[in-house]
Amino acid sequence: MKVSLGLEDQVVLVTGGNRGIGAAIVNLLLDLGTKVAYTYRSDDNPQMGSLAIKADVTDEASMAAVAAHVEEKLGAIDGIVANAGITQDNFFPKLTTADWDAVIDTNLKGVYNTLKPIIPKMYAQRSGAVVCITSISGERGNLGQTNYAASKAGTIGFTKSLALEAARYNVRANAVAPGFIQTDMLKSIPEKVKQKILSEIPLSRFGKPEEVAWAVAFLLSPVASSYVTGTVVRVNGAHHT
Ligand code: NDP
Repeated sequence: MKVSLGLEDQVVLVTGGNRGIGAAIVNLLLDLGTKVAYTYRSDDNPQMGSLAIKADVTDEASMAAVAAHVEEKLGAIDGIVANAGITQDNFFPKLTTADWDAVIDTNLKGVYNTLKPIIPKMYAQRSGAVVCITSISGERGNLGQTNYAASKAGTIGFTKSLALEAARYNVRANAVAPGFIQTDMLKSIPEKVKQKILSEIPLSRFGKPEEVAWAVAFLLSPVASSYVTGTVVRVNGAHHT
């Protein structure tokens, strides 16, 4: 018997889909037969087989235009992956207001801007799945990441609250909390710190973007995760809180 995640021909929007974890999500969804739209901010490298839209998640009007564009080109949106995110790390006394604002605006307000124009439509169609990418830092905190951890903890609270509100409309909202994953974001961590982090990970390695993508596909799937909402799936090699 053929088994499927039921994502074929579904329409999914992924923010920050041009590189890192977002690109792995886009590629896996394409392999699963999903109609994928993704946003990118600065990198002009649109992937084949998906709708690439240049947009900044901090810009509310742009994200409303993204939603309208996806609906026009691909049809009603079934899934959203709020993935775009940044770090601007520093120890708190050295953290600037600009560092604080940039990270909160991108990682938390960006989630709001992405979801705001789409959620009412999911409610009206009585179906949909939202996956927000949070972080191990949002659960356990991390040195130099007061701003980032606040944004990611905020995303967890947001997702759990949305799940409660959305349940009556048959719309699900979940978060994925990656541990340390091999992307450009990891490159900004000094080598010495990376070795210390590695020594704390029971699986003795950093994660791969594809390993996060599979958790996202599970949570988007109307087949595999139809009774899963308001939860945080950790993908962290047992690097627990
Ligand atoms: P990368 O730095 O590799 O990629 C970040 C992505 O977000 C890029 O596509 C980037 O676009 C996009 N982006 C950033 N700011 C904006 C913006 N204002 N508007 C639109 N797009 C934006 O990061 P990762 O792939 O590692 O991270 C993806 C998500 O996973 C993030 O939310 C991150 O916080 C989270 N995460 C990552 C972990 C890791 O270890 N790597 C661990 C835990 C969570 P562009 O290329 O145009 O700049």
